[in-house]
Amino acid sequence: EKMDMLHISTGDMLRAVIVSGSELGKKVEAVLAAGELVSDDLMVDLIRERLESDAARGGWLLDGFPRTVAQAEALQELLDDIDQTIHAVVEMTIPDEVILERLTGRLTCRSCGATTHVSKVPAGADSPCPVCGARTLFVRDDDREETIRTRLEVYRHSTDPVVEVLGRHYPLRKVSGHGTPEEVSTRLRSVLG
Ligand code: AMP
Repeated sequence: EKMDMLHISTGDMLRAVIVSGSELGKKVEAVLAAGELVSDDLMVDLIRERLESDAARGGWLLDGFPRTVAQAEALQELLDDIDQTIHAVVEMTIPDEVILERLTGRLTCRSCGATTHVSKVPAGADSPCPVCGARTLFVRDDDREETIRTRLEVYRHSTDPVVEVLGRHYPLRKVSGHGTPEEVSTRLRSVLG
């Protein structure tokens, strides 16, 4: 928001497909609940549609994509096709224990999509959402400890190699994810200039 870019989160897009209740949504729901990755073809189609939309004209931030080398290669082809490029690739680093502590305590609002942490709201999931006030906080299926561990393994195996592939073609910035959301956000903006 502060940099006026369209935030394209593939996780949010997939959760919207699930809420639609379609056949595709049911398949996607099972994949997410297991902590595995959705097929590259589907992901690339979703991204193509979003990058070609009018909303993306002023610049965009891809969050959660590409997550495999095949997606990274498809993204490069897609960008060539639509005559766009990537100005920076950001790798956020944080120890696994901190990831576990954050995600096992994460609460997501079903109404507005905001996230908070159990340590910040007095009555846990029964609290009102700190952003919109609705009492619709819930724990994502994939924020359970066992699934988080699978997601970390999938990250190491499938996504780590993407950093090197993209880093060969675009400026790579490493940002520490330690600290409060405000601290991380300031750090992020400073590396993006
Ligand atoms: P996130 O909200 O980014 O943590 O994504 C939640 C889940 O959605 C992931 O654990 C994957 O199952 C799926 N997902 C999100 N982005 C992608 C992607 N680029 N490729 C494949 N699966 C994805």
